[in-house]
Amino acid sequence: MTMLCANSIDSAVAALFCPSVKVVDRQRVSGGDINRAYRLDLSNGERVFLKSNRAGLLDMFSVEARGLEALRATGTIGVPEPLAVGTDRNDAFLIMEYLSPAPRRADYWEAFGRELAALHRAKCGPKFGFPTDNYIGSTPQKNEPMDSWAAFFRERRLIPQMKLAWGLIDERTRRNLTRITERIDNLLSEPPFPSLIHGDLWSGNAVCGPDGKAWILDPAAYVGHFEAELAMTELFGGFPERFYRAYNEVNPIDLAYSGRRDLYNLYHLLNHLNLFGLPYLSNVSSIAKRYA
Ligand code: ADP
Repeated sequence: MTMLCANSIDSAVAALFCPSVKVVDRQRVSGGDINRAYRLDLSNGERVFLKSNRAGLLDMFSVEARGLEALRATGTIGVPEPLAVGTDRNDAFLIMEYLSPAPRRADYWEAFGRELAALHRAKCGPKFGFPTDNYIGSTPQKNEPMDSWAAFFRERRLIPQMKLAWGLIDERTRRNLTRITERIDNLLSEPPFPSLIHGDLWSGNAVCGPDGKAWILDPAAYVGHFEAELAMTELFGGFPERFYRAYNEVNPIDLAYSGRRDLYNLYHLLNHLNLFGLPYLSNVSSIAKRYA
C-alpha cells in the first residue's frame, strides 16, 4: 500500500473518505510519551486516531507507518492500520485506524502470548534490519541490514547508544561496555530464524482493541531475534506469567534466554539514559559489569 501523504488533516480526511467528510470533533487522548494524540470524530460517523508533533518530525511518523504496515502484513496480531501522514501548518501528523475501547477477553494474555509468538514465527527477510531506519522513543535507530544477529546488535544497537551516552558514563562502565562489544559473539547466539519484532514492546505499547484482544502500537520494528522482544516485555514490570506460558507453546523459549535478557535490555536502558538522564546510569553500569 502507498501511504497517503497530505498537506492538511482536512485534506487527508477528505481523501481517505470522500470530499464532503469533515472533522466534527477532536478529543485529546492521554498516554503518549512523545506526541500529542487525539480521537477525531468525522461527519460520516467514522472515527480515526491522530498523532501530531512539530513538522520536523514528519520522518518519525512516516517510518512509524512503515513499521505498522510491516507488522500488519504478517496477519498475526492486531496492529492499527496507518491511513495517512502529512503536515498541517507547523505540525506533522499520522492518522491511523481508531481502536475503540472494549473489555478484555478472559484469555487476553494467553491470546496475546500466542499472537506475539505467531508474529515472531512469521516469514520475513533473511537479514537483520529493516528497509528504513526508524526511532526508538525519539532516538534514531539504525537498521541497515546485516547477516549476523550478534554483529547487528553490536553495530546497529549497542554502539550507537554507547556513543550518545559516552559523556554521561564513568570510565569503568565505558571499559565494560567496550569489552561487551568485543565479546558479543560469545554473549549472543544466532536465532533459529529471523523474526520481525515490534521493537519497543513495553506494556504501554499494547492496548485492548475492539475485539477484546491486545493490539500493538508505536513500533520500532525490525527483523531481529525474538528474544530481544521478550526481554523488553520484561523490562518495565513484565507481563503476567500466563502470557509467557502461552507464548512458549507456540514459539519455544530457549532455557538460556534468561541469561541474555539483561544484555538485550542494555540497549533500552542506554536509550533511557540518553533520553531521560542519570537515574538510568546505575542500571546500565551494573549490567555492563555483569556481561563484561
Ligand atoms: P506516543 O508515540 O506519544 O508514545 P502512542 O502511539 O503510544 O503515542 O499513543 C498514545 C496513547 O494513545 C496510547 O497509549 C493509547 O492509549 C492511545 N492510542 C494509540 N493508538 C491508538 C489507536 N489507534 N486508537 C486508539 N487509541 C490509541
